[in-house]
Formats: sequence, C-alpha cells, structure tokens
Amino acid sequence: MANWVVFVASIACLIRVLHASVGDADPVYRSCIQQCEQSGCVGDTCFKNCKFSTNNTIDGPWYMQEPLYRQWKQWDCKSDCQYNCMLEREKERERQGHGPVKYHGKWPFKRVFGIQEPVSVALSGLNLAMQFHGWLSFFVLLYYKLPLRPDNRKTYYEYTGLWHLYGLLAMNSWFWSSVFHTRDIELTEKLDYSSAVILLGFSLIVSILRAFDVRDEAARVMVAAPFIAFVTTHVLYLNFYKLDYGLNMKVCVAMGAIQLLIWAIWAGVTRHPSRFKLWVVVLGGGAAMLLEIYDFPPYKGYVDAHALWHATTIPLTYLWWSFIRDDAEFRTSNLIKKVK
Ligand SMILES: [Zn+2]
Repeated sequence: MANWVVFVASIACLIRVLHASVGDADPVYRSCIQQCEQSGCVGDTCFKNCKFSTNNTIDGPWYMQEPLYRQWKQWDCKSDCQYNCMLEREKERERQGHGPVKYHGKWPFKRVFGIQEPVSVALSGLNLAMQFHGWLSFFVLLYYKLPLRPDNRKTYYEYTGLWHLYGLLAMNSWFWSSVFHTRDIELTEKLDYSSAVILLGFSLIVSILRAFDVRDEAARVMVAAPFIAFVTTHVLYLNFYKLDYGLNMKVCVAMGAIQLLIWAIWAGVTRHPSRFKLWVVVLGGGAAMLLEIYDFPPYKGYVDAHALWHATTIPLTYLWWSFIRDDAEFRTSNLIKKVK
C-alpha cells in the first residue's frame, strides 16, 4: 500500500500542477478542452499524440501498463489541446475586443517549433554565453595576465574561488532557464526555480564578503552558514513540500534587494576605481527587478515582461564581469605594492 502511495505521489509530481487562472475558468475554453481530449482535434487541427485507445488509462501498477510513452503521449495530447484551445479562445476574445488573460498561471504565448517561449529561450542562451565569456576572461586575466604568488602559484586576489563558483552557478541557472522556457513541466520548473534561488543566495553571500572585505576563512564560513542554511531549507521546501510562487517571489526579491543595497552603499563609500560600473549595475539591476514584478502580457504573443527582464541582464552581465576583472586587478596591484 505504502509503495503504491509513493508511486502515485511521484507521478503526480511529474504532471504539472495547474494553477487556476481567469483563462482556464472560462466555460468556452473548458468545453473546448473536453472535446479535444475526446476527438483529438481543435477545429481543423488534429494532434497525432491524441490517437490512443481509450481503454488504456493510467490505472494499475506502472509495470503492468503499455509502454510509458503512452502516458507521455497522453500528457502531450493534453498540452496540445490546452495550447490550441487557448489560441482559439484568445482569437475569439480579440474579436470581441477583450485583452489577453492568463491560462494555468501563464500568459498566452505563441509557440515556435514547439518551443513555448522562444524569445526567453534565446535570451537565456545569450545570458549563458555572456556569463561564460565573462568567466573565461576573468580566468585568463587571473592565471595568464596577472602575476601569481611566487610561493604557492596561487592568485593574489582573495576572491578568485568565490567568483569561480559564482560563474558556475550563474551558467547553471541560465541553462535551466532556457530548458524551462522551452517546455514547462513540473520538473523543469523546479530545476529553474531552484538554481535561480541558489545563485541569488550565493551572490548575496559574495556581496557581504566583498563589501565588508571578509578575508579570513573562518569568518567567511560564519557569515555564509546562516545563508546556506536558509537557502537549503527554502529549496527543499519548494521542491518537496509546496511550490509556493508567492513565497518564492518574496524570498527572491528580498535577497536581490538586500544585495543591491549592499553594493549600492559600498559603491557610495568606497574609493574603488571602478565604482561607477557598480553604480550602473545596481541601478540597472534595480530597474530590471521592476520588470520582473510588473507583469504585462506578451506583445504579439512573444515578448512579455519576463523576456525583457532576461534581455536587460545581458549588458548588465557584461558590465558586472568587467567590474570583477577590474577588482581583481585593483586588489592584486595593491597587494603587490604592499609586498614590495
Ligand atoms: Zn525566465
């Protein structure tokens, strides 16, 4: 019995939790879905994945069933029905002079080659490339251009390891972001949310360590520990207890705002030669965060506030790594002067 419960629970996890929105409460949309799931067609368009014998439903233990791909097909059929009924309903609404509404928690996006949000996918890819470029140029600067400590061949810069990890987490986060925007199911959504929270939490730790110039290893662990504990708890909560969008949004905005504030104050008081770059990133980051909070429907079915937010982070990422490189150079030259 217990095994059966675990199995049902794990299957339930794979099927996307449907958020109730104005669009999917609409009776016209609902009856369209019902019809589509029976006939496999919306208007003249029919879906090949909807052709399965109806006597084989998802009952009984999974190993007794027809191949799992049949279930995949059923899920795919459902997704195709939802998408096409949504398009139909939106066309109708537009004719009646109504604006777009959300369906299952999301705006009506137009798919391109089966990709749900093509603009966000492309921009996530560009962000990933930008992070890689930034991290690579940082690596080359530290290990090939700046001098290394003669005794242990390590860098003079005390934040090298932290920025390496930051680059890795950022690239990971953008990778899952592009996967999630290609196809949003429960699994890709959780991976995207989790990696974003981890990145935000880690960059908050880095902001504190850099702004307060924490160089002692033990002190760094003391500062980082409570944040690591908090982020771990939050990620476990989202993944295994409840995917609470409202709570996650608050946590992310809070962690983002605190680190922006820390960098802003530090940029205001420090004599750092590249502080103007920090200012631009802080102001740009703050403005970008407004886009994430202010949510508008996609223009022509493609570009929504979230996609624009992904666009603004591209130049900010370039400037950010440029600041990090400047910081590495600045600290290194200071330390070498001290040694001499
Ligand atoms: Zn995104």
